[in-house]
Amino acid sequence: MRGCSIAASQFWLIIMKKNMKHTIRTSLLIGACVMVLTSCAEDDDTSSNGGGVAQEDLKLDLTQFTKADAGVMMQAFYWDVEPKGGWYDEVSTKIEDWSASGINRIWLAAPGKGASGESSMGYDPMDYFDVGEFSQRGAENKETRFGSREELESLIRKSHDNTIEVIADIVMGHNSGGGLQANPFRGDAEVYSLFNEENGNASGKFNRTNEHFHPNDIHNNDEQDLFFAETDLCHDQQYVQDWLWGRDDSVAEFYKSLGFDGWRFDYVKSFAPKWVKAWNDKVGGFSVGENFDGNQDVLKDWVDASGSPAFDFACFYRLEESLDRNQDLTALGEEGNMLRKIYPDKAVTFTANHDTEKDEDANNRISYANKLLAYAYMLTHDGYPTIFYLDYENESFKGQIKNLIQIYNTIATGDIEIIEANKDEYIMKRNGSGNNPGLILYMNISKNAKQHEVSTNWSNKTLIDYANNSKVRLTTDANGNTTIVAPAGSFAIWSIAKE
Ligand code: ZN
Ligand code: ZN
Repeated sequence: MRGCSIAASQFWLIIMKKNMKHTIRTSLLIGACVMVLTSCAEDDDTSSNGGGVAQEDLKLDLTQFTKADAGVMMQAFYWDVEPKGGWYDEVSTKIEDWSASGINRIWLAAPGKGASGESSMGYDPMDYFDVGEFSQRGAENKETRFGSREELESLIRKSHDNTIEVIADIVMGHNSGGGLQANPFRGDAEVYSLFNEENGNASGKFNRTNEHFHPNDIHNNDEQDLFFAETDLCHDQQYVQDWLWGRDDSVAEFYKSLGFDGWRFDYVKSFAPKWVKAWNDKVGGFSVGENFDGNQDVLKDWVDASGSPAFDFACFYRLEESLDRNQDLTALGEEGNMLRKIYPDKAVTFTANHDTEKDEDANNRISYANKLLAYAYMLTHDGYPTIFYLDYENESFKGQIKNLIQIYNTIATGDIEIIEANKDEYIMKRNGSGNNPGLILYMNISKNAKQHEVSTNWSNKTLIDYANNSKVRLTTDANGNTTIVAPAGSFAIWSIAKE
């Protein structure tokens, strides 16, 4: 009831304001206000006896709208997933629901066996060809942390049956878990650079030795970060290129044979972008690079050099700064400060991932209090959005995230027009196209409800909030003008109601 009275008093204010300017609108606006008051009464009825006109019944059937680039990605793991050896099976139970929600691609953790065996999250790659079928590193049952080869193949099949593509995390900057050997390129110092059937490479494919790491007979290091210094893979070595992607039985070809459709390249700061290009030129498929950098120009340069989309860390950090750190939305309205504002088709947006979510520095993650605001931004703008497993499977977020995915896949289309961006408010219009009405996003991080006059593409229409945060019903005049509202510390996504 409190929400209703605020909404109603807002409308009286609007009427007073408008009357001073355009007395002729008075009767129309009083009509609108009566509607608001009526809807409040109905809300009360709804809460007491389940009657009244539910918000859902006023919504257009969004399934009638399609857009070419519909679909969002799910990051289908988080740090230290449990149960060990059972993760692929756990994910398998989610596939139908995810597909029904509009998810068209899932990103799985690196499939090969890591040096830490069944504890490995895949970022300590040892045997790329052991995807859960060889006994090594104490994994008694042969499985990786995520499961067996059969369970992986079964998950991929189920995903494909539900029109979901599957991409593999590719960790090719460094290796871990080899045997000790004297390294002549390091003055015969002992280095863990020996990978063969007896030393961390039970598959016997892509055996490695000193010369495949830096320094070697070609050079001391590549121009990128020397990550995991002693076992930083050298991609200038033909042998390394051949085994990673060149041969018919390369890592990339093997993963394709398992059913993988594409690639998420881990920590691309540690090797040249041309190697991502070479991999993609050889084996194809969707790809995205993890260039862990909040500077949009760094991301743009990497996209230019690799030809691959990249995670939009600039968008992530602008959201974190705007919502958490600075509590000021102005930057969201500034030009060019995200990859998606430069190359919307090459930007893979996200609001959390396995790294950010466990980061103890609050500046590296978006707080739970602001998570849905971040998803609302991401799922109304352009860019290819990634949903984080733990957010989607969090019951307090799930309903809204599903709803926002449907909005992204349907009415979040057309040109983007920023109407307002100030400390407390961010208002953005998607212009739609044809019979697709588009939407207006209104984010409000202040402690008070806000309102703003806008010029819409919709004349003489009733508007409702498709995010269900505001129960107010608005009407536009013959010119499409109206005053939109957003609740305190929340957002609304306005579009036209059913006729
Ligand atoms: Zn090199
Ligand atoms: Zn934060």
